[in-house]
Amino acid sequence: MSDGLRIEEARQLQAAAADLFERARKSAVEITEGGRRIDDHQVLTERVAYAATEARALDETLVHLERAQAEGRASSDFELACTLAAAELAKRIHDRLAPLVDELGIGEAALEEAFPAPVRSLLRRATGEALVRDLGRRAIEAGGRIDWPLDEMHEQVRDQVREFGVNEVLPHAERIHRNDEIVPEAFISSMGKLGFFGLSVPEAYGGVEMGNLAMILTTEELSRASLAAAGSLITRPEILAKALLGGGTEEQKAAWLPRIASGEIMVGVAVTEPDIGSDVASVKCRAERADVDGQKGWVINGPKSWCTFAGRADVLALLARTDPDASKGAKGLSLFIVPKESFDGHEFETTQPGGGRLSGKADATPGYRGMHSFTLQLDNYFVPEENLVGGAAGEGRGFYLQMAGFAAGRLQTGGRASGLAQAALEETVTYIRDREQFGQVLSAFQLTQFTLGKMMALLTAARAITYSAAVAFDEDERSAAPLAAQAKLLACDVAVEVSQSGQLMHGGWGYAEEYPISRYVVDAQVLPIFEGVKPILELKVIGRSVLAR
Ligand SMILES: Cc1cc2nc3c(=O)[nH]c(=O)nc-3n(C[C@H](O)[C@H](O)[C@H](O)COP(=O)(O)OP(=O)(O)OC[C@H]3O[C@@H](n4cnc5c(N)ncnc54)[C@H](O)[C@@H]3O)c2cc1C
Repeated sequence: MSDGLRIEEARQLQAAAADLFERARKSAVEITEGGRRIDDHQVLTERVAYAATEARALDETLVHLERAQAEGRASSDFELACTLAAAELAKRIHDRLAPLVDELGIGEAALEEAFPAPVRSLLRRATGEALVRDLGRRAIEAGGRIDWPLDEMHEQVRDQVREFGVNEVLPHAERIHRNDEIVPEAFISSMGKLGFFGLSVPEAYGGVEMGNLAMILTTEELSRASLAAAGSLITRPEILAKALLGGGTEEQKAAWLPRIASGEIMVGVAVTEPDIGSDVASVKCRAERADVDGQKGWVINGPKSWCTFAGRADVLALLARTDPDASKGAKGLSLFIVPKESFDGHEFETTQPGGGRLSGKADATPGYRGMHSFTLQLDNYFVPEENLVGGAAGEGRGFYLQMAGFAAGRLQTGGRASGLAQAALEETVTYIRDREQFGQVLSAFQLTQFTLGKMMALLTAARAITYSAAVAFDEDERSAAPLAAQAKLLACDVAVEVSQSGQLMHGGWGYAEEYPISRYVVDAQVLPIFEGVKPILELKVIGRSVLAR
């Protein structure tokens, strides 16, 4: 074993990275005029936004480590994983910003001043073979799992959900994926009974209110068992619950939240349209006031796309244009709770007594199977007046409520990505400990150990920023929204990188459907796309927040 990297040394690397990043950020603020001209400088903004995300993850990793050390909970494996995660992030920040120094106008001198020769030498050691291979070897010995030190309550949550995931979900995950089956009802009813849908719903509305860290740990363990058939079941209820808590009337909260928290109703989120994706403010699906059979409400017309779980869902949280004046943009949108019958197939159609019609057809996907994502068509589909979120005051506020919901979805996706990356890491370790080539197990090869050490360090960074975002969300959801976006951005990229490295270590068998790593790879690829596609998060959420004056 190596002597490791001392936390003071990791702090030195953090200071260097923070110095370079801050110089870059200040200059980018000037260039983009406080973020107003991001679209004239998209490439530069993207890199600075990503470096900001890595810098934040680096900070959070060391904060978690110091806290765990102070509480006497930090194992030596955890210490090495954290310090090497910090070093890897410092290196990535340096390498990301170095090519930009001329464009930013900070010049070579900034690089030299932030990373003088002794710091560069430390960085080489901290990201070099001896230490990273040591972490890789330890991760191999630990079966790919270096547990995060938690307090007793959160440890119990993690253990309970892990047991559920391993015993109830894992045995079915492969079959569901291979046959593109729907999530079994037994998962939903058990998860409802265990309180998994109500983790961040207040007790007053039937939830268990254990906070966002408990929600993340739950999501992570479920996603470790299956991203699509378990880990993502919580996302849609989370999104609608947050929108209701943020802007629903008291009657709506009392009516819907207990049913969401118990798992009695499943939710689909219908925002995206065939022609409208990232530009959510331009949503075209129309909702118009109507009286149908003497009942006041709204009729909805238009297509929606990529509505996950829309078949099985009992309600759709649907964003529609209530103001016909398209120039109103985001201000013309309202959020509706649209009740529907539940279906378990890949296609459905339902007609209302008043003539309204809703049909859906699932789009085939290489991964993320189990919930099925539907293209929908609504024709004069009636929704009662009381289902406009926020009541009369909610008219025109749908975009903002939806965005609050998406912030929660992004936080949750940081947990989903960490769980999937964990599964890929463990599966890879199992494989390389068993598979022999050239007379040795793969895990004995130097390069395998080095790659695995890097995978472990990256997963540690993803967890650190996600757990911090969860805690920040408990304090103030609004101000924590950019951090949740950063957690989502980093953790999803880590899930892609870790699963693909794991696939490569499986060689040809990594491409075979019968090995779970091939599922992890196709599942991971969706993570940077939904809940805010990666470039939009970088430019319009993180970039704006980091570059605002
Ligand atoms: C499996 C799956 C499940 C999903 N589930 C749901 C769901 O349940 N509910 C729901 O409403 N949606 C869902 N989505 C939709 C998802 O949120 C959208 O795909 C995503 O928001 C991107 O929209 P788009 O696909 O229309 O891409 P587009 O917006 O067309 O973007 C395409 C590319 O262009 C880039 N781009 C766009 N605008 C800019 C710009 N201004 N500057 C630079 N680059 C830009 C984007 O970043 C992206 O890389 C799901 C998608 C998938 C694949």
